[in-house]
Amino acid sequence: MGTHGASLLDRFGRQATDLRVSLTDRCNLRCQYCMPAEGLDWLPTDETLTDDEIVRLIEIAVTRLGVDQVRFTGGEPLIRPGLVDIVGRTAALHPHPRTAITTNGLGLDRKAEALREAGLDRVNVSLDTIRRDSFVEITRRDRLDDVLAGLAAAARVGLTPVKINAVLMRGINESEAPELLRWAIDHGYELRFIEQMPLDAQHSWRRDTMITADEIFASLDDEFTLSPSDEQRGSAPAEKFLVDGGPATVGVIASVTRPFCGDCDRVRLTADGQVRNCLFAREESDLRGALREGADDDEIARRWVAAVAGKRAGHGIDDPTFLQPTRPMSAIGG
Ligand code: SAM
Repeated sequence: MGTHGASLLDRFGRQATDLRVSLTDRCNLRCQYCMPAEGLDWLPTDETLTDDEIVRLIEIAVTRLGVDQVRFTGGEPLIRPGLVDIVGRTAALHPHPRTAITTNGLGLDRKAEALREAGLDRVNVSLDTIRRDSFVEITRRDRLDDVLAGLAAAARVGLTPVKINAVLMRGINESEAPELLRWAIDHGYELRFIEQMPLDAQHSWRRDTMITADEIFASLDDEFTLSPSDEQRGSAPAEKFLVDGGPATVGVIASVTRPFCGDCDRVRLTADGQVRNCLFAREESDLRGALREGADDDEIARRWVAAVAGKRAGHGIDDPTFLQPTRPMSAIGG
């Protein structure tokens, strides 16, 4: 049986149309909520998909399985040498998928234009603070100016709306939410706060110390008036609010305290070619093995369909039996 016209449906009726592709597990920052200071045991090169293998898998997802949006992430996608080429080949597919990258912004000032020309639609840049001391403490690198240059370049070349993802950490930048929002609005960036999730390699996350969406709202309420945005949320992870009546907005991605699994439309491909149907999945399906054993597109598509069919109803972070996935966020692709 062929797989043309198949889709990535799970048994709860959700369809995965948004593919997150991790291009590398390596990163040039060491954000505390993600990685230990010394880094991790990186994937060996021969286990990492080649550019051609990545593009082939994306092509199968887009042309046969209904994926209409591809987001490149990692690790840090900008450190993958073939990024611009991979973006260009993805953007040239028919039907044409929307493309985006999630990046820490380092080096984006030099690559923004080429990425735009290759057909990239948008970027999300991760930035948790605009204070140099907090930046160094969180990321363990003194690179704030490079991130700001990357953001400015993204806006300049039209990778808009430029979105910023921020994580608040207790005792470091927890009181900086209003200042970061003011700064983002002044610069025309769309800020979203993400609740810290149990995905760090060191397993240091704790439910009772993470900063919750309610705390973020309380802190923003001191300086701004937030009102629900009319925009349909659909499968978007962020709850969006108008700031002081709009048009500026702020988003809150409350993955832990207000999970949105029922509307999830995402599926992930790791840099070593494993499909994960959820960030918190405990199983993966090996497409790299199939590729390298010579499987045809039909067979790979069938495996992909089966991998998504088994997706669980929710991530279960709040269940007493919750187990953190073995792979950290940087290896899964955030
Ligand atoms: N290096 C890129 C970047 O910085 O955006 C892409 C990968 S990074 C893993 C993707 C996003 O995940 C970033 O916005 C980062 O802040 C976020 N992230 C990493 N660990 C997290 C955690 N434990 N909880 C919530 N967000 C996390």
